[in-house]
Amino acid sequence: MIRINVLTVFPEMFGPVKDQSILGKAGEKGMIDIRLINIRDFTEDKHRRTDDTPFGGGCGMLMTPQPVFDALRSVDGIEGQRILYMSPRGRIMDEELIRELSGEEEFTILCGHYEGVDQRILDSWKMTEVSIGDYVLTGGELPAMVLIDAVSRFIPGVLGNEESAGDESVYSGLLEADQYTRPREFEGMEVPEVLTGGDHKKIRLWQLMESIRITGERRPEMLRNWVEKGPELDGFTKAEKKKITELIKTFTG
Ligand code: SAM
Repeated sequence: MIRINVLTVFPEMFGPVKDQSILGKAGEKGMIDIRLINIRDFTEDKHRRTDDTPFGGGCGMLMTPQPVFDALRSVDGIEGQRILYMSPRGRIMDEELIRELSGEEEFTILCGHYEGVDQRILDSWKMTEVSIGDYVLTGGELPAMVLIDAVSRFIPGVLGNEESAGDESVYSGLLEADQYTRPREFEGMEVPEVLTGGDHKKIRLWQLMESIRITGERRPEMLRNWVEKGPELDGFTKAEKKKITELIKTFTG
């Protein structure tokens, strides 16, 4: 069971994501406990404000320290916990961070809003800034939901099939091959014959070759990393291994 505390001025944004689909089921089964903490409940401002103008000028507003400090102090056992601040200045979220977080018993996320937060919040609480990519959103709520969703897939039992999280695109080291379901023929478009033939060895080879091709075309650096790690090609014949190596060479030279 993992507990994730989320500090936000818009807790209602999380409802549809946290209570439905895989995350909703994980919550019902007690595998994940997402606690929403409304920063506004802690403000001592008589107008319930949580933001103010930045010193030194500049447009927009910043979240003030007092309500955030008090909201953090309300979290049991906050000392010693990892505290993340969703921020476009942060470390780009990746597999390594997601796997690390999925191993925590509890961690806390601060969602920024307006133009961000007073720096003393980040310094005092030794927060790790985490970005979901090089673009700017209006608030940290959507980035926090992206992070929580990605973390949840590594929590044992959440996906039902324990194997599937690490088998996906990126985590497996390659991008996934194209996938198809019924019907076999749709508006004149056929499913590749090999997938419907029932020969599992041939299917495995086709899927790996497709993965290599797609990764080589779209993410050549990912393919190079995969090759450098010396992937195991157990179960393939000598001729098949030669075919795989030749395909790799067309991308890596
Ligand atoms: N003034 C800030 C800057 O230039 O770095 C941007 C503030 S942004 C408009 C408001 C909030 O959205 C941030 O405090 C942060 O919590 C969140 N946010 C925006 N883009 C993000 C991203 N790429 N990754 C994570 N959080 C982001």
